[in-house]
Amino acid sequence: GGPVIAVDGPAAAGKGTLAKRMAAELGLPYLDTGLLYRAVGRLALDKGQDPAAPAQHLAEQLTRQDMARTDLRTTEVAQAASKVAAQPAVRAALVETQRRFAAEQGAVLDGRDIGTAIFPQADAKLFITASAATRARRRYLQLGGVLSAPDAQAQLAEMEAALKARDEADSSRASAPMQVAADALVIETDNATADEVLAQALAYVRE
Ligand code: C5P
Repeated sequence: GGPVIAVDGPAAAGKGTLAKRMAAELGLPYLDTGLLYRAVGRLALDKGQDPAAPAQHLAEQLTRQDMARTDLRTTEVAQAASKVAAQPAVRAALVETQRRFAAEQGAVLDGRDIGTAIFPQADAKLFITASAATRARRRYLQLGGVLSAPDAQAQLAEMEAALKARDEADSSRASAPMQVAADALVIETDNATADEVLAQALAYVRE
């Protein structure tokens, strides 16, 4: 098969944008692995289940339709995703899906544990990060927020607190925590445009 490229990092660091553009440039399939956990979190919420309660059965029964839902991008679902993702049995149920995705043609996958747990032998590993303030500002603007709005500061502070709480949970869980792989290239994106990050990432994987 083709190369496997791991793109890990904290929430709203720009992994998705970068990974999608890299996949297009390199002619590889792209998988947003966060969607798997979001879809499981969404199913738990739909069932009125606490996302911290055992959700292995939901992960095992996940369908394409569950992953294609348009209501997976909310903060509520992100938080539920982080809670189901802390369960080793949920993670175990999703490993094969991720490995199979890349088996034939290779792939670019973005997530938290791609370079450390899903594909420790990946051909290239990137860890994309930025300060919490930068990530909160980007997410706010993405969602249509305006920096001159009267409530902008309050909204940014709330968003930053939510991102930090999720990063902290994702980094401290016992099962496949978010970590920088020893052989990953770390790209700090605070002072870089999306085009600059893409150029740096492509130069690295083409080495
Ligand atoms: O990337 P995204 O924000 O969509 O991920 C949602 C949540 O899913 C993360 O906060 C994390 O808890 C979990 N996740 C994970 N491993 C991945 C991708 C996402 O644990 N590879």
